[in-house]
Amino acid sequence: MNSTSQLEQQLRTLRLAETASRLPELITEAERRDASYHEFLASLLNHEQKRREEKQIERYMKWATFPYHKTLEEFDVSEQTTLSQRQVNQLQELTWLDQLYNLILLGPPGVGKTHLSVALGIEAIHQGYQVSFLPMGELVHVLKTTEMTRKSQVRKRRILKSDLVIIDDLMYMAMNQHEANLFFQLINELYDQSALIFTSNKGPNDWGELLGDPGITTAILDRILHHAEVIHLNEDSYRMKYRQSIFGGEPVTPNQAKSVQN
Ligand code: ADP
Ligand code: MG
Repeated sequence: MNSTSQLEQQLRTLRLAETASRLPELITEAERRDASYHEFLASLLNHEQKRREEKQIERYMKWATFPYHKTLEEFDVSEQTTLSQRQVNQLQELTWLDQLYNLILLGPPGVGKTHLSVALGIEAIHQGYQVSFLPMGELVHVLKTTEMTRKSQVRKRRILKSDLVIIDDLMYMAMNQHEANLFFQLINELYDQSALIFTSNKGPNDWGELLGDPGITTAILDRILHHAEVIHLNEDSYRMKYRQSIFGGEPVTPNQAKSVQN
């Protein structure tokens, strides 16, 4: 009979590394439970599969480069008059992702656009999808330096392999012709291949002026809006409402803040 260390070696050769690293415990556990052959084999395969899934989630979470970890459970829908719990549950099912629908999350700062996009990204990873998260400025940088640095090359490759690409704070700055072209090329490559989430404080009608060239603008909007759901988040800023106030009691509202400054 093969010794345990020989079995471990064979498992590694067969690329069952997770089972190899836990083999003695798995055997002891099966003996303790007086497991049948069938049960023992099932426990080995379940272990291998579970660990592989966990490792893939860890890897995808790292590759996604989220700015913070926020989940859908932490997203308070009662703050939103424009979005219901039923709609959030529907988004959570990710049918839109399979159907390559794009989501456009619009609203002023602090209303939960980034939070909702991150939460949907995390959900997607847990359901086995690959995700990339990039603030717009970073995306433009990656696109401009793809030919020059290995880091940007790797990043670009991961973006193209992602099932979901989240572009945060789209159009917060004007782009020059070269940047708009690179952005269009990327949208073109992702078109019909990945779902996209855009967050922005400006609606698609205002994107044109920041992209400059009318031809490129039309082409980009055409692809982004072809299959898109626009979600407006509340004007009432969550961040403003719940931030700590140095005055104690009632936080200062934006209007009061203005009059304090004046
Ligand atoms: P923005 O719309 O500017 O992207 P964020 O999504 O970053 O805003 O939200 C700002 C902060 O407020 C984050 O810490 C986020 O978790 C919190 N927040 C905003 N909206 C909600 C919400 N509906 N439920 C829970 N937390 C929220
Ligand atoms: Mg944001």
